[in-house]
Amino acid sequence: MRTVIVNATLLDCVRPTPIENSAVVIEDGRISRIEPTGSVTPQPGDNVIDVAGAWLLPGLWDVHVHPDYHSLTDMPLADQVTLFGHRLMTALTDSGIVGFRCAGSHDYMDVAWKRAFDSGQYVGPRVFASGHFLTTTGGHFLTSGHALECDGPYGFVKAIREQIRNGVDHIKLNLSGGILGPPWDLHTQSFLLEDELKAAFAICHRRGFKVMAHATNPEAVKSAIRLGAHSVEHGYIMDDECIDLLLKHQTWLVPTLAISHLTPKQASDDWESRWTTQRNMSHAFCCRAEAASDVHGGWFAKAVKAGVRMALGSDIRPLKDAALLEMGLWTRSGATTWQTLQAATRHGAEICGVGDDLGTVEVGKLADLIVVAANPLEDIKNLRRLLLVLKEGTVVSDRRAR
Ligand SMILES: [Zn+2]
Repeated sequence: MRTVIVNATLLDCVRPTPIENSAVVIEDGRISRIEPTGSVTPQPGDNVIDVAGAWLLPGLWDVHVHPDYHSLTDMPLADQVTLFGHRLMTALTDSGIVGFRCAGSHDYMDVAWKRAFDSGQYVGPRVFASGHFLTTTGGHFLTSGHALECDGPYGFVKAIREQIRNGVDHIKLNLSGGILGPPWDLHTQSFLLEDELKAAFAICHRRGFKVMAHATNPEAVKSAIRLGAHSVEHGYIMDDECIDLLLKHQTWLVPTLAISHLTPKQASDDWESRWTTQRNMSHAFCCRAEAASDVHGGWFAKAVKAGVRMALGSDIRPLKDAALLEMGLWTRSGATTWQTLQAATRHGAEICGVGDDLGTVEVGKLADLIVVAANPLEDIKNLRRLLLVLKEGTVVSDRRAR
């Protein structure tokens, strides 16, 4: 059966110019034609969806997520696994997030849900799995329940081989501390020795696995880029050389602004206030986040201006709110709505290695699409006015009657 979407204001995320009165024809899950509505004649049996001028665009991507931290809840592991799946599915249906890249999860629950969605057992977003978050003894994120403490070159090599054996898509490697953590876990400090770094990157390259590198200070960012990381996560503190290297190596940057920018004091709208009051953040965390916020925002703005390849990743929960909050922070911190939208669509698919099939509305691509009620280029928050979500041309969420 063909699906024909008519009367759409098309924002294909290739060009920043919307095209009114567009029709998009979908056959076997892929976009087969994009034309003016008047030139497409629906055939008997077509599933025609008239969106009455609403905005049609590619589904959204959040390329830095974790399940809820195992250690912060009394919930048994099995229930946690179920909850993570539920959160992924809700993000697809409630917010139109069609793709997720995981940045650490325990017991390979990301691999499990990826398989459940890919097999069609459940309808959910596309998941790119990392398995554990690999750090050192006394490293970062030990409270998450999914950090694996590795030591010495072969400690890292063995852990990476174990992630590979368990079916991950990429390796999450921690190079430095963070904003959230005990006093000895600082984002200004790097954690790995030269030999450990070299061995970890060497085995990833040999096995053809991309490195998603947590790097939060200039030294860690530069090491990650020089050793061939696919993406630098966070980049809270950088310097001009970091920006030059990101450009030279065409390394991705995923800035995760939410980590330093979303505290009760910094909340700038109702959504942010509600989210920050619900999170029960510790005073210590808020102090560290607020102290890091300006420098982080400054390097974000410089990276945007320099044209660094950037994709949108939130690093926060719940997943249905996370990417939308992060997008608001992007526009507040100096990105245009167009740059933000590209980071959350086209670049999301590209960083996950599926840019040929997803991320834009173009003939030949898989039809993972959303329809929203108003123009996100005018206000990125309009993405919250979600009407429809399609996965491979099938409507998986219809909120038009609400
Ligand atoms: Zn993270």
